Amino acid sequence: VSLLITNISELVTNAPRETVRAYSPGPFEAISDAAVVLDAGRVTWTGLAADAPAADEVVDAAGRAVLPGFVDSHAHLVFAGERGAEFAARMAGLPYSAGGIRGTVAATRSASDDELRSNLARLAREMLAQGTTTFECKSGYGLTVADEARSVAVAGEVTPEVTYLGAHVVPPEFDGDAAGYVDLVCGDMLAACAPSAKWVDVFCDEGAFGADEARAVLAAGEAAGLQPRIHANQLGPGPGVQVAVEAGAAAADHCTFLSDADVDALAASGGTVATLLPGVEFSTRSPYPDARRLLRAGVTVAIASDCNPGSCFTSSMPLCVALAVREMRMTTAEAVWAATAGGAHALRRSDIGHLGVGARADLIMLDAPSHAYLAYRPGVPLIAGVWRSGEHVA
Ligand SMILES: [Zn+2]
Repeated sequence: VSLLITNISELVTNAPRETVRAYSPGPFEAISDAAVVLDAGRVTWTGLAADAPAADEVVDAAGRAVLPGFVDSHAHLVFAGERGAEFAARMAGLPYSAGGIRGTVAATRSASDDELRSNLARLAREMLAQGTTTFECKSGYGLTVADEARSVAVAGEVTPEVTYLGAHVVPPEFDGDAAGYVDLVCGDMLAACAPSAKWVDVFCDEGAFGADEARAVLAAGEAAGLQPRIHANQLGPGPGVQVAVEAGAAAADHCTFLSDADVDALAASGGTVATLLPGVEFSTRSPYPDARRLLRAGVTVAIASDCNPGSCFTSSMPLCVALAVREMRMTTAEAVWAATAGGAHALRRSDIGHLGVGARADLIMLDAPSHAYLAYRPGVPLIAGVWRSGEHVA
């Protein structure tokens, strides 16, 4: 059944207008007074509403904007418990450190599979209602072979973009023996998780894992068939970005503290996306990454939520877009591109993040006439409709 959505004030396609069979996301591109046709889960036509072909069903957008669904390429959604008190303490003046993750690890280990599943399902529903049609989901709060294995298995029930993050922090039972824990992460734990994951990730930062440990984790993951991505340069300057580029990682995430050499390495990498997570800086009251410096250097920039119970408990990509515009001086077009096509690049996906002909029919309708309203009206629920693979799902 084909569906025509017409009378669209602004159709953000992220795809060259005249290109058919455009499977690679282009630069930010939008069509005014537009229409889009969906059929069999794909975009089959875009253009001026006046030129639109007939379809089996018609939706009148009534002058509203339509965008690709958000692609949230960085989220930690398999966990139990919450850390509201830690957040309140941080806002009262205590600094954020990687150590707070241990509280979530304890809660996650003692949770049942069904508790983890229902928490994950609630967050996935939240994301969908806010226009996120694809999200990545990491393990990393189990940190035993069994708890990491069930974390990636549960994540795989809701998304194909599953990341094995055994190297999130060193768990308490390995205090003083980080090397022993890295051996486990690269050995039995990896063997148990690799069948359920697409990606391998490591938190390479102060208080987490160093460069050599990160290299070992990514290399072991690749040998097991996983693709590398990394948490890098969040808490201070460090080797994470260089390790990412050396490893050919799909993305280096956070990128808050970068040297000129880091920016140059990302720009020259030809494929490592800098994923910025402005919700983290908002929620930890930290300095924001310098998005303009990255964009000026020609680095591909994505925006993601980093939804997690510690450093950033928002699942809202519209909020992240607003923060990127207001706090990181991205233009509204740059921020929307980064939250859609940028996220797709960070997941090495060419079928999502744009609405070129042939793209998966993942799109959102705003209760507003243009994409700019995501930042212009921060905090207002503007998602008026969500289609995933052509199905109206929210
Ligand atoms: Zn993260």
